Amino acid sequence: MKHQSEILIIGGGVVGISSAYYLTEQGRQVTVVEKGEVCSGSSYGNAGLLVPSHSVPLAAPGVIQKGLRWMMNPESPFYIKPRLDRELLKWLWKFRGACNERHVRKSMPILRDLALASLQLFEELATLDDLEFGFEKRGLLMIFKTEKGLKGGVEEAHLMEEVGIQTQVLSPTDIHQLEPNVRANVVGGVFYPQDAHLIPARFVGQLAQHIEKKGADIRPGTEVLGFETLGNQVKTVRTTRGDFVASEVVLAGGSWSAGIAQDLQLELPIQPAKGYSITVKRPEKCPVIPLSLAEAKVAVTPMGETLRFAGTLELAGLDLSINRRRVRAIENAVSDYLPDIDVEHLELIEIWRGLRPCTPDGLPFLGRSSRYDNLTIATGHAMIGVSLGPITGQLVSQLVMHEKPGIDLSALNPERFS
Ligand SMILES: Cc1cc2nc3c(=O)[nH]c(=O)nc-3n(C[C@H](O)[C@H](O)[C@H](O)COP(=O)(O)OP(=O)(O)OC[C@H]3O[C@@H](n4cnc5c(N)ncnc54)[C@H](O)[C@@H]3O)c2cc1C
Repeated sequence: MKHQSEILIIGGGVVGISSAYYLTEQGRQVTVVEKGEVCSGSSYGNAGLLVPSHSVPLAAPGVIQKGLRWMMNPESPFYIKPRLDRELLKWLWKFRGACNERHVRKSMPILRDLALASLQLFEELATLDDLEFGFEKRGLLMIFKTEKGLKGGVEEAHLMEEVGIQTQVLSPTDIHQLEPNVRANVVGGVFYPQDAHLIPARFVGQLAQHIEKKGADIRPGTEVLGFETLGNQVKTVRTTRGDFVASEVVLAGGSWSAGIAQDLQLELPIQPAKGYSITVKRPEKCPVIPLSLAEAKVAVTPMGETLRFAGTLELAGLDLSINRRRVRAIENAVSDYLPDIDVEHLELIEIWRGLRPCTPDGLPFLGRSSRYDNLTIATGHAMIGVSLGPITGQLVSQLVMHEKPGIDLSALNPERFS
């Protein structure tokens, strides 16, 4: 027997569950199929930062040169596992093509609009009775150890101001006044007051429970294996728990989306970029404002009774192994910037790794497929998928219902690299 559903969403991460929320709100009957548990992918242990401040796309001038230098050092913030992988080489070639000023200038207003709209939606979601996900609007404090790093940070702040994001350049004394709870061994910083943070797994988990109460059908342990198509329609979605038939299908499979889309003969150039987090019991000396240890690219986020350190970006395919050296690099960076915090001696709650779904130009894939009339693609959010979760969900719901999306999505066309 085939399971029937009006809308079938593949993937129970922040993107899939947010899409399910906005579709359920429109009175649609939604089924979510998730191969593991809800929120077991990248949406689980990330840094939880909601960041209009991150409106510069990953593909930007200078990134390649910096990446090549870092590649030699397995404890650096960025690492490519050396291997001959055709998809990786194709992706890197496209990434190189997008690392230019014109692309950055074109992408920043798009990422800004998405991030600010999403923040507004988070504020609305935080008022729902059954949702309490540690949402706090305290900004983000980027701190720098080197003059060179600070110079780059101030330049980026100027770029941000040009697109209307508020910034404040701070001296070490200003930093201490703003965040007196921990000492920072730094030369200066940039404060982004519009940023916010939350506890990501709590957000996705509670939103999933909320929509289940409203009638959504969420199926963990249900892995998509392939599809049956007829002409320009996805007819059947084949899973480990049987076949599903739906009028509309949404692909929100994070880093796994490229593999899933292959069965539909669709090319989605996504490279998984592994990152790690270390969550500890909240120490006595604990920042209340999230910090970015800028040169080391490590985020420090207070989350309720815990404190989380997250970072590193490693292109190693769909490999979820934990490299202890890279975890140690995060621990070392923390004590280097914040001498009051010695991660090794704090009460460990969890070491985690996740795969960020990265597109070659640093912009998500969001839109309807031109090949299949009933397929919508929503993936490739890289480092900002939590930030953009609600707005992506709202836009997916508009696309699925054939409404005009509230934001121009032409730059996010999922087939732009085909
Ligand atoms: C260390 C780290 C720190 C980060 N910090 C931040 C941050 O501070 N702010 C921010 O905005 N973003 C951050 N991110 C990025 C963010 O986590 C991701 O962009 C976001 O979680 C992607 O959401 P998603 O729903 O697309 O993917 P996922 O959460 O990975 O969800 C995809 C889901 O699809 C499921 N799936 C896969 N294949 C199948 C299949 N065949 N059948 C059924 N289900 C399937 C997976 O099990 C998974 O649950 C961070 C990421 C990392 C790794």
